[in-house]
Amino acid sequence: MERTIAFDKSVDGLVPAIIQDSITGKVLMLGYMNAEAYEKTMAEGIVTFFSRSKQRLWTKGETSNNFLHVKKVLIDCDGDTILINASPDGPTCHTGDDTCFQEVNDGKVMFINHLRSVIRDRKLNPSDSSYTAQLFKKGVNKVAQKVGEEAVELVIEAKDENKDLFLGEAADLFFHYLVLLEQKNYTFDEVLDVLIKRHK
Ligand code: AMP
Ligand code: ZN
Ligand code: ZN
Ligand code: ZN
Repeated sequence: MERTIAFDKSVDGLVPAIIQDSITGKVLMLGYMNAEAYEKTMAEGIVTFFSRSKQRLWTKGETSNNFLHVKKVLIDCDGDTILINASPDGPTCHTGDDTCFQEVNDGKVMFINHLRSVIRDRKLNPSDSSYTAQLFKKGVNKVAQKVGEEAVELVIEAKDENKDLFLGEAADLFFHYLVLLEQKNYTFDEVLDVLIKRHK
């Protein structure tokens, strides 16, 4: 059955339209469409929104020429969201980025999780060429000792003003600390839980 959009059930006659790059699959932006914007989009094959700030129809690219060419239109199960696969003429975001979306934390928090999964993998699938796998092989006492050594190296660097050396030792300590947690089958998440609990 053909899907239709429930403009009548939407807030202020506006339905969110997600714009996804038809080739890369990247989500480029989100805008709102009223019935008129939707009809114009379908008729022209170029994305037109209803701009809530401008309070008028807004064809994306009308001043920048970075139009969004419609490749495919999808409507969700209950007709309250539009998904448009489109081919952009240029950067979609007015900041010059290809997409309006950017990770809140630069991915740095997620990187800790990634590093942990790599460390875990070295434990479960050891290879001779892996420094981390060799560490695990030496046992928990040796890993704990290594954490102590790195801590001492950090203490030594703390006395000087060399930023690179200090950060390097801080990274060494953190890495070996993560290895020790993994060796003990604890997670960094559990450490954070303890800190959060104390904070309250
Ligand atoms: P354009 O439609 O690309 O010609 O841009 C016209 C104006 O719309 C810009 O000056 C911005 O104020 C706004 N704008 C453009 N692109 C976006 C976007 N991706 N998200 C929100 N506002 C935008
Ligand atoms: Zn829905
Ligand atoms: Zn943007
Ligand atoms: Zn070191």
